[in-house]
Amino acid sequence: MKILVINSGSSSLKYQLFDMTTGDVLAKGLCERIGGEVGIITHKRPGFEPYKAEPVLPDHGAALSLVLGIITDKELGVIANIDEIEAVGHRVAHGGEMLKKSSLIGEKELEYLYSIVDINPLHGPPAIKGIEACKKLLPTVPQIGVFDTSYYSTIPEHTYICPLPYEYYEKYKIRRYGFHGTSHRFVTGECAKVMGKPAEELKIITCHMGNGSSITATKYGKAIDTSMGFTPQDGVMMGTRSGAIDPSVLTYIMKAEGISAQEMDDIINRKSGLLGISGVSNDCREIWEAANAGNKRAELAMKMLVGGVKKIVGSYLAEMNGADAIVFTAGIGENDYLVRQLVCEDMDYCGIKIDVEKNAKAPKGTFNDITAPGGKVKIFVIPTDEEYMIAKDTQTIAQNLVN
Ligand code: AMP
Repeated sequence: MKILVINSGSSSLKYQLFDMTTGDVLAKGLCERIGGEVGIITHKRPGFEPYKAEPVLPDHGAALSLVLGIITDKELGVIANIDEIEAVGHRVAHGGEMLKKSSLIGEKELEYLYSIVDINPLHGPPAIKGIEACKKLLPTVPQIGVFDTSYYSTIPEHTYICPLPYEYYEKYKIRRYGFHGTSHRFVTGECAKVMGKPAEELKIITCHMGNGSSITATKYGKAIDTSMGFTPQDGVMMGTRSGAIDPSVLTYIMKAEGISAQEMDDIINRKSGLLGISGVSNDCREIWEAANAGNKRAELAMKMLVGGVKKIVGSYLAEMNGADAIVFTAGIGENDYLVRQLVCEDMDYCGIKIDVEKNAKAPKGTFNDITAPGGKVKIFVIPTDEEYMIAKDTQTIAQNLVN
């Protein structure tokens, strides 16, 4: 079964074509600058040089049309005909309170996605555009939505309700939703596999640390807490996002600087976090370099990042009465050994002991067990694969439609 996975951003469209009989990625690529004067497409196939072009891509439909043309092209393609695509899986950041599991996107689901655009203004519209473009160009192919939020449908009410007047939950559905769920679900499953036990018997803390970061506690197969909340802005400090902050700081700055809610939103989303503190970059590699060269603010930024993650890991240990494993994943989690070391060090009281040498030598972006001898809590580095998870869900739903 061939499955196309689509991840639409505001001006981008990522794609991966899977052959689910082997699990292989036949081709993948990225369309950028959609809506700009000149777009960019990068198309990759295993064993071939990447193909790059600069076509005009007025909208997501044009980008998708180009992708379908390329994957079926005689020279660049990997399938003979688009009829070979049996289902399309869409990464959708927000499924609101209705879409609690991966689902076929019919009229009702699409209408619901439109109805929650207000609480998901950045990621909602592009996801809808991607789905609509696919429905138009592949009208007979099932379109399946896989929602980042759905992993968190198991979080208990006392954890997801925000401590504000209850009417805001009723009126605006203000609550903790959680994000990155597909990644946390994938690495939790992989962690259970390597531990040789069902997830239902394990307590796992997963640290997805990249440009956006979130930490999730999964107890006996169910997510019970996560650091992102109503938006992907909550929780730990990130590349350019502040993460959780005393809410009164925001109203104070808005008054002091005479700025609007929109401007404040921009500051906490795009100008804060590692970039805002270091003044150097949002990228850990550049911040470490600056810190090593004596830049105090760069050093402070990394201390704040590590300290924030440690606090949340600690709170989840408290919430779950310990953990069987801690998993690091995504750009920082898979590549930055020092961040992993600093998060895990001095936690032997909780049974967490990292093998400093093994961790430092762990090849980047690969599976690694970095638990020190005697550590009660396993510490793993597990590369995430959200696209594969999306393809898997899509396959399951598409096969059920046929049966
Ligand atoms: P992601 O959002 O998961 O793609 O992660 C992106 C972030 O991962 C970058 O901003 C870097 O901070 C970090 N990162 C990626 N590669 C490395 C690396 N080789 N060493 C350290 N950090 C890295």
